[in-house]
Amino acid sequence: MAGTRGQNGSAALFGSTTDGPATGPRGADALAGAWASGYAPAPESVRPTIAPRYGHFIGGAWRKPAGKGSYFPTINPATEAVLSEVAQGSAKDVDAAVRAARAAFPAWSALPGSERAKFLFRIARRIQERSRELAVLESMDSGKPIRESRDVDVPLAAAHFFYHAGWADKLRFAFPGRTPRPVGVCAQVIPWNFPLLMAAWKLAPALACGNTCVLKPAETTPLTALRLAEIIDECGLPAGVVNIITGDGTTGAALVGHEGVDKVAFTGSTEVGKAIARGVAGRPVRLTLELGGKSPHIIFEDASLDQAVEGVVRGIYFNQGEVCCAGSRLFVQESVLPEVLERLTRRLETLRVGDPLDKNTDVGAVNSRAQLETIRRYVSLGEQEGARLHVAGGDGLAGAFPSGPGFWCRPCVFADVQPSHTIAREEIFGPVLAVLSFRTPEEAIARANNTPYGLAAGIWTDKGSKIFEVAARLRAGVVWCNTYNRFDPASPFGGYKESGFGREGGVQGLRAYLHVD
Ligand code: NDP
Repeated sequence: MAGTRGQNGSAALFGSTTDGPATGPRGADALAGAWASGYAPAPESVRPTIAPRYGHFIGGAWRKPAGKGSYFPTINPATEAVLSEVAQGSAKDVDAAVRAARAAFPAWSALPGSERAKFLFRIARRIQERSRELAVLESMDSGKPIRESRDVDVPLAAAHFFYHAGWADKLRFAFPGRTPRPVGVCAQVIPWNFPLLMAAWKLAPALACGNTCVLKPAETTPLTALRLAEIIDECGLPAGVVNIITGDGTTGAALVGHEGVDKVAFTGSTEVGKAIARGVAGRPVRLTLELGGKSPHIIFEDASLDQAVEGVVRGIYFNQGEVCCAGSRLFVQESVLPEVLERLTRRLETLRVGDPLDKNTDVGAVNSRAQLETIRRYVSLGEQEGARLHVAGGDGLAGAFPSGPGFWCRPCVFADVQPSHTIAREEIFGPVLAVLSFRTPEEAIARANNTPYGLAAGIWTDKGSKIFEVAARLRAGVVWCNTYNRFDPASPFGGYKESGFGREGGVQGLRAYLHVD
C-alpha cells in the first residue's frame, strides 16, 4: 500500500488490525464471521422464463432485425452464463420504429387524458402483479441484489406509472392558463444501472403527456425492457405507441440522430451525453440529459454518526456504486474523522458480497467485465496517487471470488484523499468511496462544489439551520438531508453543469414532454 499520512492523520486507523479494541477492525472480523455463519443461503426460487432469442418490439409486434440482422448475447454478470440473445438494431430497424411511433402519434395524442391514464394504470398494476418475475430477471441480467430490485427498482417503476397516470388528465392544471401539447415522437436511450426503472422514468411521463416513444435499453441489460414490452402488449396499448429496440451504442446513435424524432431523452455517461448534444444542436429537437456525477456527502461533527455512516453506506454501496448520484466523495469534519472512519470500516465488514439472487446479499456483481476493469483501474490509480485503501474482507478487491466466474468487486474506502486525486474528481461507478476532510462549513461547501458535476449531495447534521444554509449553497440538483438515495416519482431529479439538464419526475419532469405555450 503506497499510502502516506495525509491531511487527516487517519493512517493509523487502517493499520490497526492487530491490536485494535473489540470494536475495531479485529472486532469487525469477528463480527463479519458471525454474520457469515449466522445466515443460511436464501436464494430466490423463482426462475422467470427467458426466450432463447428476442427481436425488436415495433408497431405492437415482435420483429426480427431487418435484412440479414444479427443478434448478440446478454449474460448474467454473476455467472457469465448467456441468458438470451437479443437483436442488434440497425438503421433500418430504428427507422421502422420511428415510423411506427409517428404513425401512432395522431390517435394517441388525440385520446382524452383520462383514457391514456387507464393504460398507464394498467401497466402499473401489471408491473406489480409480475413484480417477482421482474425483480429476478433484473438481478439476473444486471447483477444487482434481489433485495434492491425487489424493494427499490420494481416498486418505483410501478410508482412512476401510477404517478404519471394521475397527471394524464390534469396537464392543464399543471400549467395553469396554458394549453400543453405533446412534443411528438420521443427517442429514449437508457443505461444499464437501473434498466426497468429508467424505462419507467422515460416512458411514463412521455405517454401521460400524449407522446409516442422509441426506447433503447443498454446493450448489457435489455431483458426487463423487453419484458415491459410484453406487459405493454398485454395491457392493449395501441400499436406503435411504445417501440423497444435493442442494440449497442450505434443503435442509440442512429436513434437520437434520426430526423423523425422530436425529443431526445438520454441517461448515461457525460461523454456520450455531450456527443448527443452536439448531434442534436441546430435541429428542432428537444433534449434532456441525465449524466454522471461525483456527488459529495458531508458529515458535520454534530451529526448522529451511526446514522450518518448508514447513510454513507447506502449512498455509495447501493447497486455496487453503479449509481449516477452515488455519494462517492465523503467529506468529514476533522474532529470526527477518526471515529467516522472506524465506524465505516467496521460497517463495511458486515456487507455481504455475493449471489445477487440471495436475499441476504448487500453487494452483487458488477454489471460487466468492462465496468469491473474501469473500477480496478481507478482503484490502482488511487493507490498510486497516495490515497490509503481499505477493502472489506481484507483479501483484495475480488475477495472470495478471484478465479470463479462473474465480475466481483468488494466495497472499499480510500482515506487520505486529496481533492486533486483522480478518484476524487472522476466518476468511478463502482463501490469505491473517497474520504476527504474539512474544518469549517465554508470549506465543506467550497470543496463539495469543486467538481464539474452537480447531480446530488448529502448533508448530515443535527442543526436545522445548518441544513438550510449548506443545502442552499450546494450546486446539486438533489440535496438529501440526514438521508440519502431517496426517490419518489413526485420529486424532480436532474443535474447541473456536466451532470446534464432537464428534470425527470414531478411537475417539472412533465415540462420536458410538452409544448407549454
Ligand atoms: P453510455 O453512456 O455509453 O451508455 C448509456 C446508453 O447510451 C446505453 O444504452 C448505450 O448503449 C447508449 N449509447 C452509447 N453510445 C451512444 C451514442 N453515441 N449515441 C446514443 N446512445 C449511445 O455508458 P456506458 O455503459 O459506456 O458506461 C460508461 C460510464 O458511463 C460508466 O462507467 C459510468 O461512469 C457512466 N454511466 C453513467 C450513468 C448515469 O446514470 N449517469 C449510467 C451508465 C453509465 P450501449 O449500452 O449499447 O453502449
